[in-house]
Amino acid sequence: MAYLNENYLKLRAGYLFPEIARRVKSFCDANPEAAKRLIRCGIGDVTEPLPEAVRLAMHKAVDEMGARESFRGYGPEQGYEFLREAIAANDYRAHGIDISADEIFVSDGSKCDCGSILDILGDRNIIAVMDPVYPVYVDTNVMAGHTGDANEGGAYEGLMYLPCNEANGFVADVPEKRADVIYLCFPNNPTGSVASRAQLEAWVAYAKQHGALLLFDAAYEAYISEPGIPHSIYEIPGARDCAIEFRSFSKNGGFTGTRCAFTVVPKNLLGRTASGETHALHPLWNRRMSTKFNGVSYVVQRAAEALYTPEGKAQVGALISHYMGNAKVLREAALSAGLSVWGGVNAPYLWVRTPSGATSWEMFDRMLNEANVVITPGSGFGSAGEGYFRISAFNSKANVEEVARRIMALSR
Ligand SMILES: *Cc1c(COP(=O)(O)O)cnc(C)c1O
Repeated sequence: MAYLNENYLKLRAGYLFPEIARRVKSFCDANPEAAKRLIRCGIGDVTEPLPEAVRLAMHKAVDEMGARESFRGYGPEQGYEFLREAIAANDYRAHGIDISADEIFVSDGSKCDCGSILDILGDRNIIAVMDPVYPVYVDTNVMAGHTGDANEGGAYEGLMYLPCNEANGFVADVPEKRADVIYLCFPNNPTGSVASRAQLEAWVAYAKQHGALLLFDAAYEAYISEPGIPHSIYEIPGARDCAIEFRSFSKNGGFTGTRCAFTVVPKNLLGRTASGETHALHPLWNRRMSTKFNGVSYVVQRAAEALYTPEGKAQVGALISHYMGNAKVLREAALSAGLSVWGGVNAPYLWVRTPSGATSWEMFDRMLNEANVVITPGSGFGSAGEGYFRISAFNSKANVEEVARRIMALSR
């Protein structure tokens, strides 16, 4: 028999979403009538269809693929020039940020990129994550052998957890100790928090002081509504020397099922060897992508490009307005029910304190049984999430209005 990667055996067997599914199923089996009223506000997946500009671009690209003269086989592993250029021009240059097209690597998703980036990083780094955390950052480090075992609360030995709580507004403070790699996600999933310019400046200063690498996940960048909140880590001077940025078309263009994202690796970004030599990360990532990846399909890259056209931008704006309108309705309902609420202003997630000291799972059961609404228990994102739950604004307006009524009708 072949030997296994035993690190996989340390994983707390996909605890959160399977447990939610199990509880929802047993509720539905026991209450078939109530099951018909069930509304899911749990999963972070979009609900609205693809923008028209995207569909038109895809149809056209499909036709090109159907004609000998315009057929395309393998494309560049890094992504087609037309898309990398559209990204550099619209997401960076238009905002005065110095990122060039060849620092952009198009991929089939930020989830994969967040995991794959570990391929080019060594195994002696001190890794820091925020708590609560998007589980992908943690689990990919477990798989790569960067941690010990999980304790009772689900925290892995060897990872540095940066607590996010009411006191720091769910934005991790820069730690006293050194970390080599720090995962930051703003706007945040699950808490919906955003980092101010001053907070990101502190992170860049910390990274420079310790020679650390920031892995900045900006998947929800398009949801920022307040002026002055940075959309990219590269808005902070010096970030080109210490940060990789992950962006995705999943949450702005509704590409969760279409699959397209990109990673920015500035050319001047350096890492070091055990013996102290420095090397640029860009050629390593380029090598990783050309060896292990064969690019995103032409049709999908044309679809992503269409998001940058005037029509595409207007249609993305309408999608964001829809979800953020939902977030507002849910936020007002939760507030008027006397709940303490964070998020939902620059992110499609609300982070809510459970009333009367209930645990996250007790609140999950209560919402399921009393309101027939599925939420996500905060403790599933890390021990600092205990005592909170996440409500997703990804839904239809009708569902959200119904959820709002049910939240307001919850017994106190
Ligand atoms: C949804 C999401 C992504 C995007 O992942 P894709 O693989 O591009 O769909 C990235 N990071 C976070 C925190 C997310 O919630």
